[in-house]
Amino acid sequence: MAKIFCVANQKGGVGKTTTTVNLCAGLAKVGQRVLMVDLDPQGNATMGSGVDKRSLQHTVYDVLLETATVAEARVKSERLAEAGCSYDILGANRDLAGAEVELVDVERRERRLKQGLDAVAPDYDFILIDCPPALSMLTLNGLCAAHGVIVPMQCEYFALEGLSDLVNTIKQVHANLNKDLEIIGLLRVMFDPRITLQQQVSDQLKAHFADKVFNTVIPRNVRLAEAPSYGLPGVAFDPSARGSQAFVEFAEEMVARIGSMKR
Ligand code: ADP
Ligand code: MG
Repeated sequence: MAKIFCVANQKGGVGKTTTTVNLCAGLAKVGQRVLMVDLDPQGNATMGSGVDKRSLQHTVYDVLLETATVAEARVKSERLAEAGCSYDILGANRDLAGAEVELVDVERRERRLKQGLDAVAPDYDFILIDCPPALSMLTLNGLCAAHGVIVPMQCEYFALEGLSDLVNTIKQVHANLNKDLEIIGLLRVMFDPRITLQQQVSDQLKAHFADKVFNTVIPRNVRLAEAPSYGLPGVAFDPSARGSQAFVEFAEEMVARIGSMKR
């Protein structure tokens, strides 16, 4: 049965999509069966997995509106298969921007994604959901479907400030909607150890959140930034890059953590 994780942070540009696609590729590389769910109308995770968002017959939008099942809407990427790190993709495109409004009058509207994913959970070890940069109905659907949240963050001065809104939202969802939900961990991304401030914020994070901070640190690495323009996660595009190796290491850390969650 799949363990389901949201990659969430209400700030934009903090590395959610990069984390989602590279963790998916890393997990696939170490032998896990993985589904990537793109829950952002921008469709970056879809394109970054080698799937043209404009060519999709069905997307996560259909799953939310119940016009298609996940089994009907999921696709594979040939590019990922060629690179030896294949995962399934439940894609998104701009249609998804309308879902927010269309779900307003729907019953149990925050549980649509969960219902859809439950049906395919036996097919996978991991399902990762790339959330949009807002605490919206879309993100709420992600949080209701998930067992845990992975929070990518840059070690910058305002990083901790934004975190409290997300932590409060997660607490509310945990209390009212999804008692399985927990923060699995904070992932330090785009890290540059030469910058003293980043080192300081990293130390603060560890002091406040202790073992909720993942051991793996993702370095700032230009190959990770270049990979999306080739329609691939860095892990598939240039496996030898430092950033790619860090994401494979992170995949191994996730597998180990999930092993200890089951016990
Ligand atoms: P989000 O999904 O949170 O908006 P993205 O994953 O799209 O964030 O990342 C924002 C930008 O930062 C993108 O241009 C991406 O390529 C770049 N980026 C993300 N992680 C790294 C990294 N570790 N090193 C260098 N660039 C990165
Ligand atoms: Mg994104």
